[in-house]
Amino acid sequence: MPQRNPQDKPWAATRRGLAAELAKIDGVLPGSVGRRHMRCGKPTCACKADPPTLHGPYIQWTRTVDGKTVTRFLSEDQLTRYQPWFDNARHLKELVAKLEIASVHALEAERRADRSDSTAPARRAKHPSRSHKRRSEP
Ligand SMILES: [Zn+2]
Repeated sequence: MPQRNPQDKPWAATRRGLAAELAKIDGVLPGSVGRRHMRCGKPTCACKADPPTLHGPYIQWTRTVDGKTVTRFLSEDQLTRYQPWFDNARHLKELVAKLEIASVHALEAERRADRSDSTAPARRAKHPSRSHKRRSEP
């Protein structure tokens, strides 16, 4: 049996592709962005009329910090400049999820390869305690 290189694991091309995508991410902004019309504090303002003429739309960025909702207003220019970082947050989650799947497949592929290996039964015999762990096996 050839010596296994510790760097050389299954699903390498997929994992390298995902890692390359991850490396392109240079900014991530949490939370969500929406456009809102709002009322102000002036009692005589048109936003208090019936029907009301609301102010806005304003671009509102909402995120959670230490369990509390934090809101900031962004300008059109800021949203244009930072939209890619909001998009990155979703993209990052997708990439991490895919990398986890590819990594689990890699480990499982190696496990299957080890089991079908002719040396496997001999190795298994060295671990009589395995029978107790049967439940955790698929
Ligand atoms: Zn108003």
